[in-house]
Amino acid sequence: MSQYKTTIGLEIHAELKTRTKMFCSCLNDFLETRPNVNVCPVCLGHPGVMPTINRKAIEEVIKLGLALGGEILNHSRFDRKSYFYPDLPKGYQISQYELPLVKGGELSGVQVRRIHLEEDTARLLHEGNHSLVDFNRAGVPLIELVTEPVIDSALKALEFGKEVQLILRYLDISDADMEKGQMRVEANVSVAPAGHEELGTKVELKNINSFRAVKNALVHEIERQKELLEKGEKVIQETRGWNEVKGITVSQRGKEEAHDYRYLPEPDLPPMELTTPEVINLEELRRSLPELPEAKRERFKQEFNLPEKQTDVLIGDRYLAEYFEEAVSEFLALEENGKSKGIQLVANYLTSDLVGLLKESGARIQDTKATPENFAELVVLILKGDVSSRIAKVILREMAATGMDPNEIIGEKGLTQISDESEITNTVEKIINENRDAVESYKEGKTNSLQFLVGQVMAEAKGRANPQIVQEILKKIIEK
Ligand code: ADP
Ligand code: ZN
Ligand code: MG
Repeated sequence: MSQYKTTIGLEIHAELKTRTKMFCSCLNDFLETRPNVNVCPVCLGHPGVMPTINRKAIEEVIKLGLALGGEILNHSRFDRKSYFYPDLPKGYQISQYELPLVKGGELSGVQVRRIHLEEDTARLLHEGNHSLVDFNRAGVPLIELVTEPVIDSALKALEFGKEVQLILRYLDISDADMEKGQMRVEANVSVAPAGHEELGTKVELKNINSFRAVKNALVHEIERQKELLEKGEKVIQETRGWNEVKGITVSQRGKEEAHDYRYLPEPDLPPMELTTPEVINLEELRRSLPELPEAKRERFKQEFNLPEKQTDVLIGDRYLAEYFEEAVSEFLALEENGKSKGIQLVANYLTSDLVGLLKESGARIQDTKATPENFAELVVLILKGDVSSRIAKVILREMAATGMDPNEIIGEKGLTQISDESEITNTVEKIINENRDAVESYKEGKTNSLQFLVGQVMAEAKGRANPQIVQEILKKIIEK
């Protein structure tokens, strides 16, 4: 059914990780597990209280706007969006309507329409026949980023969402974990006959709790709309929820219009003048921006020429990418030869081994005791064949646990490599006697068998033998 074109526009919410909430001084602490402890009359919506603006939250939205090349509005303000729901005790949400902090911008070829700031609602828990409300989340700063309807496939929508998540993390303004509800994606999607100027009737998809669900919900909804059009029926403009278990979208409610919300300028907050450097220093914010993922990805491709998957793993964590660069530059300071091989080794031992160790202990790369300098020293030892890959892993584990440098560890743990030929010959002979079949098949031309035998010798020597010498001696004895 390729005679249809798909159009998607996303509305992405993300909770900022400011220390305090948006309009009061309650802590914004998503680790708090006790319900209703970070609350005050302001975020509980008591009558007669006065909100105040969290400057840090404003600055963070501006940073995001600058990062995406959007226009920071000199005059911005908050608006009241009226609606009633049990998680919103004031009966309105403080949001932004006509004058958002940021207009325009672009990311990965997708035009951004606006980015505004609002307050998150309380969390509702439905248990049996009653519901509970936890106000710890009420009033947490929430950004909303709205794209233009320009995304033409479910996959591209997913990729855009991931890139937004990455930027939020690079800017260190949100943890943006979808599973934890720190980032939420709503997708508007329409289908129209190919070649039509006008877009089709859009449906808004909600309840999407993971990136996988973004794609699945869209794929399903696009199919549903195409089938309706095939049958000559009309798509109804509505909000549909994604049912993860059944894998279908379900109608939730009809379209609501802006006038349903009765937006009005928030009378309890002053309009914001962002032109005054004493209020918000735009230049300083601009200078504080880190290198962004897109730029870093391109630079890494140019400078390091690693396999694409590995580049993606490094770029996927700003601090991992920084660690990589430091380790590479330390490596180049130690070793002038074997540049590209060394860079590849740094990437391999970092993205598989060190990242694996971090996962085991639940630590972040910023917290590891293994310094980039020691890491580079280890790579030099590997490159020169002074330690086998097996011993390298042992050393790395020790580096991560203690912060010691690899040579210290080798000395302390007695991991010095055995290059002594007679000692290695003894082990080789033992393995040859125990593995006659492999020896025969090597003689018949199966080179894999030699690798197998080398592996056996290395295991017998607990990884400490020099693999080059092991291979030479093996060949010599077998070919005799
Ligand atoms: P509404 O007035 O219903 O809120 P908006 O024009 O404000 O609609 O757009 C809300 C979101 O829906 C935006 O992300 C926008 O890109 C997207 N959108 C608008 N029209 C369409 C359409 N026809 N198909 C797909 N997405 C659309
Ligand atoms: Zn409060
Ligand atoms: Mg809208």
